[in-house]
Amino acid sequence: VTAKTSSASAHRLLDRLEELGSVGATADGGVCRIALSDADREGRNLVRRWMGEIGLEVLVDQIGNIFGRYPIGDDSPAVMIGSHIDSVATGGKFDGNLGVLAGLELAQTFIERKIEFSRPIVVAVFTNEEGVRYSPDMMGSLVFAGGLSLDAALGSVGIDGTRLGSELERIGYRGDLPIGAIPIHAYVELHIEQGPVLEAEGTVIGAVEMVQGISWTECTIQGQSNHAGTTPMRLRRDAAWAACNIADFIHQLAGDMGGTQVGTVGRISLSPNLINVVARQAVFTVDLRNTDDARLSEAEKRFDAYARDLTQKAGMTLETKRLVRLPPVKFDDRIVALVEEASLSLGFSVKRMPSGAGHDAQMLAARCPAGMIFVPSVGGISHNVREFTKPEHIEAGLSVLERVAITLCIQGGPYSALSTL
Ligand SMILES: [Zn+2]
Repeated sequence: VTAKTSSASAHRLLDRLEELGSVGATADGGVCRIALSDADREGRNLVRRWMGEIGLEVLVDQIGNIFGRYPIGDDSPAVMIGSHIDSVATGGKFDGNLGVLAGLELAQTFIERKIEFSRPIVVAVFTNEEGVRYSPDMMGSLVFAGGLSLDAALGSVGIDGTRLGSELERIGYRGDLPIGAIPIHAYVELHIEQGPVLEAEGTVIGAVEMVQGISWTECTIQGQSNHAGTTPMRLRRDAAWAACNIADFIHQLAGDMGGTQVGTVGRISLSPNLINVVARQAVFTVDLRNTDDARLSEAEKRFDAYARDLTQKAGMTLETKRLVRLPPVKFDDRIVALVEEASLSLGFSVKRMPSGAGHDAQMLAARCPAGMIFVPSVGGISHNVREFTKPEHIEAGLSVLERVAITLCIQGGPYSALSTL
């Protein structure tokens, strides 16, 4: 079997991206398909229908991950290609969907062309990658890889007070395939960069070497609500002021530390949240990331010390809850090299780079050789309704993924020695 350039159809992939993007479409051109919502169910149903139509064996595991396998019933170690289809509330058509639908496109191409490989191909859709409703994010792949128990995941309580297990059942995706039951030879994920680097440098393909470490903390500050007109400034215990002060500190901290350190306060809710009342309570999140684990720990320590000192001096209390803590993850050198070689042989410029965002591939990396392929995001914009990747870059990514997948699928080929579980 030889890898022929662009035998897979970018046109069909683009059509499917549009059609899936119409599920949960928002008025401003974006997508809102939050994990385990009705829209997520509808998106899952569509992908599952496509899997069935092209002849894949559809399996759903106990955390709702969907797998489309070809050939049917072949449970030897597979080349798995996947990502997620859940979105943030203001998401776009490409994040996650691209990796799933590119996998689907390859499987369909192989089936139509009657290409027989010595390893099965599995298209994977992982549950709750975004983590906006239920923590932690990348949950389906984390559970699949053995990093979180099924019970803990099913028991996760959402920001809307719902239990993940109940919602999974409600939308009909609490499957019966035991967790981790599919053996994997290697995992590859095609994803939009979600950052500005590739576009700025005019590079077409990113060979992703690693994913930076992530730390998510939820902070609750208790002050005292009081009249905004009559309470002298020196007598205030203003939770809104404290939260904003800490948000400002996080911004400066990342600047001070430099390197790959970034810091974000992305969610703040105030109580009672009224124009003329000093806030009694502020609940907010802190997202810190770095490619270096020690530096990430340092950022966490400095933020924690600052926040405790500030609230204590101002007569308020601070409670912190760790939501997510993931160390940086390195991808398999051989797969990174394979992505690089495939890109160059197809005539695309390629750059080795870290991922600034978390991805399912980093969870799979704990279980099997894993890697990722990035394509440029226009304007570096993502988690935004204006998220866009040019059709020619979708096509390039698909071609590279196809070549990588074919190489990995050949038993006795150069990548036969990848370890399996
Ligand atoms: Zn994603």
